[in-house]
Amino acid sequence: MARFIFVTGGVVSSLGKGLSSASLAYLLQSRGYKVRLRKLDPYLNVDPGTMSPFQHGEVFVTDDGAETDLDLGHYERFSGVTAKKTDNITTGKIYSDVLKKERKGEYLGKTVQVIPHITDRIKEFIKHDTSKEDFVICEIGGIVGDIESLPFVEAIRQFSNDVGKKNTLFIHLTLVPYLRASDEIKTKPTQHSVKELRSIGVQPDIIICRSERPIPLEHRKKISLFCNVDIDNVIETVDVKTIYEAPISFAREKLDVQVLNYFKLKSKKSNNLTPWKKITKIVLDTKKQVNIAIIGKYVELKDAYKSLDEALTHGGIANNLKVNLVRIDSEKLKFSEIKSNLQDVSGILIPGGFGKRGTSGKIEAIKYARVNKIPFLGICYGMQMAIIEFAKNQLKIKKATSSEFDKTGVHIIGLMNEWEKSGRKVKGTDKDLGGTMRLGSYDAILKENTKIKSIYKSRLIKERHRHRYEVDISFKEKFENKGLIFSGLSPDNKLPEIIELKNHPWFIGVQFHPEFKSRPLSPHPLFSSFIKAAKNHK
Ligand code: GLN
Repeated sequence: MARFIFVTGGVVSSLGKGLSSASLAYLLQSRGYKVRLRKLDPYLNVDPGTMSPFQHGEVFVTDDGAETDLDLGHYERFSGVTAKKTDNITTGKIYSDVLKKERKGEYLGKTVQVIPHITDRIKEFIKHDTSKEDFVICEIGGIVGDIESLPFVEAIRQFSNDVGKKNTLFIHLTLVPYLRASDEIKTKPTQHSVKELRSIGVQPDIIICRSERPIPLEHRKKISLFCNVDIDNVIETVDVKTIYEAPISFAREKLDVQVLNYFKLKSKKSNNLTPWKKITKIVLDTKKQVNIAIIGKYVELKDAYKSLDEALTHGGIANNLKVNLVRIDSEKLKFSEIKSNLQDVSGILIPGGFGKRGTSGKIEAIKYARVNKIPFLGICYGMQMAIIEFAKNQLKIKKATSSEFDKTGVHIIGLMNEWEKSGRKVKGTDKDLGGTMRLGSYDAILKENTKIKSIYKSRLIKERHRHRYEVDISFKEKFENKGLIFSGLSPDNKLPEIIELKNHPWFIGVQFHPEFKSRPLSPHPLFSSFIKAAKNHK
């Protein structure tokens, strides 16, 4: 049976529970164990798919088409394990499952209650499909003490009772603040947070203390004493300069060793930190730099393009370069300022997006990249905008647009079910926005003798999608006659997946999101190639 590790947070949010869980997963894997990571989110949305990136950061998409919390991105990038739909659950989903059962009469007349019905559903989620794992790391979103997280903490308490204490480990991640004015490190918030956790029946086995500076032994001893945790299990995590240092730092603090000791397990191999050391060195020490502009609607929020930022950094790692991200708000990008805004960048990227706001700034920036032969990568919405720009300025279809934001005009981009007559099988309804997009991994076939084929070096690729609108394939010939090639199509030849310009050093648009599959230890070829082109452009 798998062993279960539960990670809760205390004092404040954003301490890096996701990153800590992901780093621990890597360390246990490198000790020779099989690990799966799961996230339980306490909010009421059924999934984050309908939430604004301003609210919740990026929506991460899995191969099997789930719209999930961005922490699953960290999990995949650090552990290399492909996340599944069933690795992320929210309070909203749990309640909707329970209520569905209630409506069907499956509770046989019983009163449906938080305990046991909601907690049973949570426990079911934690345990299902884990028979082949050595460890399942479950992160509980939010912090202990929130009303929303109560049923989750109660469920993990029961779970530990059900499967036995020796098969479950509780890790609590808290903040140990440093007060500049009095030059002191404070353990009291941690003591309170653990008290809160214990009041609902959970005694942490390991406390990870996030701190700005190293925590002296006497303070660790204090935490150990007041929180009833072995001193060796009070583990500090001091702020790192790059997230790639996190596995190294946790290994130094012996987090993996303590976890194995707890379960009385031996290490099958010594852990391998060499790849992380190598990329940390590149990220921190490389002097060579390249500026890449990201022009999007959500640039103000750091987490809104998390996987994308990461993938670009990975592209830099592959080229031994530091990538500086120049974030430009597409809504504020004025036509007259395009040149001055973009003159110092060596690559322009338009990410995924929704709705009309900011489209004209994006289209102008694309024109600038096309005309001035600056490397350009358009992702999903970015590819759709590139199509509109080319149609307007090269095919002279002045009213070229997308039915997403303009009901009149020529719909070169339109809803899949608007074209159902052409025989495509598509999902989609105008009423329900949740989960109705083309989601998850789909195949694309790459055309011979194209740039994209030379990048992927494969005829068939699988990439993750999250979109509702498509480029109308019937315009293909018109575009190709003018030098914009449809270099990747769906296997039935009906959906354009990739476009590229013939007479341009590097101009590619993709209908999918390659950023979700890039990993620091194996950068995605498209991002490596884009950054290489930017390097050569300088
Ligand atoms: N809004 C566009 C669509 O639904 C693009 C979506 C995206 O960029 N992820 O097709």
